[in-house]
Amino acid sequence: MMSMRVALAGFLHETNTFAPTKALIKDFVQGGGYMPMARGDAMISQSKGINLGIGGALDFGGKMGWDMIPILWAGAIPSAHVSKDAYESITDEIVSGIVAAGPLEGVFLDLHGAMVAEHENDGEGGLLQRVREAVGPDVPIAAALDLHGNITRKMVDAADVLVGFRTYPHVDMADTGTRAAQQLDDLMTRGTSFAKAFRRLPFLVPIAWQSTRAEPGRAIYDLVAETEAGDVTSASFFFGFPAADFEGCGPTVICYGTTQSAANAAADCIEQAVLKAEPAFAGQTYDPDAGVIEAMRIAKTATRPVVLADTQDNPGAGGDSNTTGMLRALVRQGATRAALGNMVDPKAAAAAHVAGVGAEIDIALGGFSGIHGDAPYKARFVVETLSDGKLIAAGPFYGGAQLDMGPSACLRIGDVRVVVTTHKAQMADQEMYRFVGIEPAEQAILVNKSSVHFRADFDPIAETILTCTASGPMPVSPASLPFTKLARGMRMEPLGRAFDPQNAA
Ligand SMILES: [Zn+2]
Repeated sequence: MMSMRVALAGFLHETNTFAPTKALIKDFVQGGGYMPMARGDAMISQSKGINLGIGGALDFGGKMGWDMIPILWAGAIPSAHVSKDAYESITDEIVSGIVAAGPLEGVFLDLHGAMVAEHENDGEGGLLQRVREAVGPDVPIAAALDLHGNITRKMVDAADVLVGFRTYPHVDMADTGTRAAQQLDDLMTRGTSFAKAFRRLPFLVPIAWQSTRAEPGRAIYDLVAETEAGDVTSASFFFGFPAADFEGCGPTVICYGTTQSAANAAADCIEQAVLKAEPAFAGQTYDPDAGVIEAMRIAKTATRPVVLADTQDNPGAGGDSNTTGMLRALVRQGATRAALGNMVDPKAAAAAHVAGVGAEIDIALGGFSGIHGDAPYKARFVVETLSDGKLIAAGPFYGGAQLDMGPSACLRIGDVRVVVTTHKAQMADQEMYRFVGIEPAEQAILVNKSSVHFRADFDPIAETILTCTASGPMPVSPASLPFTKLARGMRMEPLGRAFDPQNAA
C-alpha cells in the first residue's frame, strides 16, 4: 500500500485587538509559552511529548505510516494584532512549502482560530483559503484549533474538518491534534468529504467563566464528546475569544457527519445546551484590595495558599503581564508569605542582574504598557535570587515544555516576592515560581497573572481561588470593551446588551 503523503504546518496566535503590543516575527521566532518557531524535522524533535496539536498529529501520522512533510510551525503568545509582515511571511512560507511538497493526499494545520492580522481580520480564514487554492478542491485539509478560536464561515468553507479542544485549561492540545489527524486519515481513506453544520451563538462568554473544570462548561463539553458518535464524525464547540473586534467574534458549534441530517441534529443539540446555559456563565470578582484582604482572612486558618487570579492582565489573553495593581494591594495591606508571578519587565530583570543577589535596588517596576489605571511601581526591592530563565514547565498545561523566560529574578519587598522575567509566558506552572527559588506551596498567598490555565497545576495546591480585577487590558466582562465591528445583535456578555454598530464606541 502506498503511504499517504501529508504536509503539516502550524500558525498560532490569539489576538486581543484591544491589547497594547503587536506580535512581530521575533515573537514567533521566540515562541513565548508555545515552542520556538520550527521548520522541517525540528518540528518533530521539538514537539515530541509536549502538549501541542502538532505533537499529537505527528505522533499519529508516524503510527499510521504517513509520508510526512513538516513545513513550518510558528506560534506566539497572545497580544494585539499580528503584524502584516509576520502574517504574510509565515503564510507565504507555509503555502509555498505545501506547493513544493505536492502532490499530496492531505494537509494538516495546527491553528489557534482567533488570529487577527493588521490587514486581515480573519487570520485563519485567509490562511485556509490560500492553502485551499494551493492544493485544489480535492485534497482534504484538517485543522486542530483552540477552544478560543473565533470560527468563521470562511474557515468552515475552506477546510474539510475543524476540530477544537474540549478543555480549558487546555490540557488536551496534543489529544486534539491526534483527533484532527484521525479525521484527516478518515477523509483520505474514504475519498469524499463530510457534511458540515455550523452554528453561531448570540452572546460572548467572559474567559474567566469558560473553565471546563466548572459548570456550565463541564456539562457542555461532556455533551460535545457524547454527541460525536454514530453518523456524527466530529463535534466541536468553541467558546471563542471575546476580545476580538471583528464580526466573526463569538462562540460557535461545528459538527460533521456522514449525513447532513446527523450533522445538523448534533449542532442543534449543542447549540441548545449553550443557549440554555447563558445565565450560568457568571461568577464573583474582587477588586485588588478586597481580594487581598479576603485572601489574608482565609490564609489565617488555611494550610495551603490562597490563589488570586490577576485575570485582567492575563498574558494568555493579550496582557503584557506587567500591571501593578495586585502588587500594590499586597504591599498596602501588609500581606505576608505572598508571591506574585510573572512581572515581565526586562529593565528590572537587567537591573537585578547588574546589582547581584542581596543588593537593594530602587526601581520603577512594571506598569509601562499605558494601561488606564496602571503605572510603574516605584519602590526599593531586595534581589533575592537570579536565574537565566530556563525551566521545564512540568505541570499538565505546559506538559513538560521548555520555557525560556530570559534573565529573571526574585525581587522582595517586605514579605512579598515578585517573579520578574524578561520574556513573557503565562503563569500556569508551579515551576515558574521555583526557578527563582520560590516554593509556591509554602506561600500563604499567590497572585497569578492568568485567568484559567493556571488552575490545571495550581488547583491541587490551592486552598481556594479568587478572581481579582486589577486594571488591565482584558476586562472580565467583554461588555466593557470599546467594540466597533462585532456582528450586529451579538450580546456583549451573557444576558447583556446587544451590539449595535450605530451606537458603537
Ligand atoms: Zn485558548
